[in-house]
Amino acid sequence: MRLRTLALGLFAVAATLVRAAAEEPKLIVAILVDQMRYDYLERFHDKFGEGGFKLLTDQGAFMTFARYNYCPTITAPGHASAFSGSPPAMHGIIGNDWFDKRTRKMMYCVGDSTVTGVGTNGSAGKMSPRNFIGSNFADQLRLHYQSKVVGISMKDRGAILPAGKQPTGAFWFEAASGNFVTSSYYMKELPAWVTKFNERKLPESYLGRTWDRLLGANEYERPDNLPGEGNLSGEKTPTFPHLVVRPKPQPVSAVVAEVDVPAGIGTSAGANAALPPARVAVPNAAPTKITYDNILATPYSNELLAEFARAAIEGEHLGQAGAGAPPDLLTVSFSAVDACGHKFGPYSQEVEDVTLRLDRQLEGLFSYVDKKIGLKNVVIVLTADHGVMPTPEFAAQQGFDGQRADEVVLLGDLSAKLSERFGTAGVLLVKRIFDGNIYFNHDVLREKNIAPAEVAAFIREWAFSTGKYQACYSREQILDGRATGLIGERVFNGFNGERSGDVVLVYKPYTINWGGKSGTTHGSPYAYDSHVPVLFYGAPFKPGRYADEFYITDMVPTLCAAVHIDQPAMCIGKPFVKVLAAP
Ligand SMILES: [Zn+2]
Repeated sequence: MRLRTLALGLFAVAATLVRAAAEEPKLIVAILVDQMRYDYLERFHDKFGEGGFKLLTDQGAFMTFARYNYCPTITAPGHASAFSGSPPAMHGIIGNDWFDKRTRKMMYCVGDSTVTGVGTNGSAGKMSPRNFIGSNFADQLRLHYQSKVVGISMKDRGAILPAGKQPTGAFWFEAASGNFVTSSYYMKELPAWVTKFNERKLPESYLGRTWDRLLGANEYERPDNLPGEGNLSGEKTPTFPHLVVRPKPQPVSAVVAEVDVPAGIGTSAGANAALPPARVAVPNAAPTKITYDNILATPYSNELLAEFARAAIEGEHLGQAGAGAPPDLLTVSFSAVDACGHKFGPYSQEVEDVTLRLDRQLEGLFSYVDKKIGLKNVVIVLTADHGVMPTPEFAAQQGFDGQRADEVVLLGDLSAKLSERFGTAGVLLVKRIFDGNIYFNHDVLREKNIAPAEVAAFIREWAFSTGKYQACYSREQILDGRATGLIGERVFNGFNGERSGDVVLVYKPYTINWGGKSGTTHGSPYAYDSHVPVLFYGAPFKPGRYADEFYITDMVPTLCAAVHIDQPAMCIGKPFVKVLAAP
């Protein structure tokens, strides 16, 4: 009898343990900070408040050696990879835009001509996740628990790619109107809470405001005006205090032309940088209009999004279904550090300030979530989609070989030399290098009996003769697995057979193609672009600092293990078991 009682008692204890382990969070908040390097969290740590980044770095599990294992390290591939656990080679989001070989037109990563805007008549609404191949964390969570999923960002791709194929909603900022919008892919009309939020006209209230430092001038790491810093739109000097310049009202057609990002300098800096076909005039709109682009590189952009995150939790009742309900997911992609970093670089006072202010904005959001749902019922995961290079001028000042490359000039030179070598014009199909990808005109090659391998070999020698490139791989080399070494492996992981080019070029470290004489960018396989923080916070995780080898593709499998769901279809990562409280 005694034995039986004991056994029953043990059984009861075991059942309790199993039940406790299976209790899931009510809400998962997945935050992505566009262009936030790992070192920002170390360099600025002591200037953070207690409840923002520090809640995650000091009370969560901090992966200090997380890296992107592919290039190009840019926004759309970053969002797609971080949330799917698969690299661009598999999910197909190889850039913010790429050359579509079938239609011979540029393809925007989330562009979709079959859908229409909701909340807008403009092209900012013609977006969907259709180009993403496979499934992601949001999809798996929804399949398992029928969870509610909402994705938000200032950038369309930042909202759409993390939220998966059938979220409750994905909403992004339309700079031309100052509104959050969506597309007919998701729904027929904006939810009332989004319309109500738009009616508050917060973007309007930011125009004309002064952005000064949060702390005293001498509390920042470096002087305000470093080599290579650029100016905010409408300003003449790259120094505090900054003004969020209210643009002059423009005729509608002129406004439409202005918001397009010129091809060739990358689209990461623009919030909704749809590529041609260009934006069209909005019928029946007011004859003049102002745009809200000027807030994008300032802390007001993050402030607006943090406020919108609260509205989303409130409006969709995320994590509020009561005991035993499945976890909901809110993905929030903050874009201001990216836009600011492109202008001023990673060592600027502006980037320091926008990060310190984001810390306070996160603190506000986390304390709201705590009051509403209780942090003990919430999982927070935070990462970035890529890092950024110092400005070439700042790099040069530090003794590195900082240089700006002009891809229009480079491609012109290459085209001329190809014509000379092969006795024909038109060997190349494109007038732009897409994140290192060059596309051949195979019709011309067939007609003139030119072997693609010969063109690739010629381009490689040309590339090394320019002094700008570190590596060059042919399509065959990559697909056959002959692109080896650290750079080769990262190029391989970023190369999709259906969508990528015939040759891939990789710049030397501290070399970028970025318009003009100032500013900087990202995209390389190098540490400054690929080393990002990954932070897990909440009951399923063991707090601490982990300097273990960790790739961005390990983030989702770790999350999946934490909330007991299947991995996405093409996830190549491994769950980082050490970080799990109950593996
Ligand atoms: Zn960027």
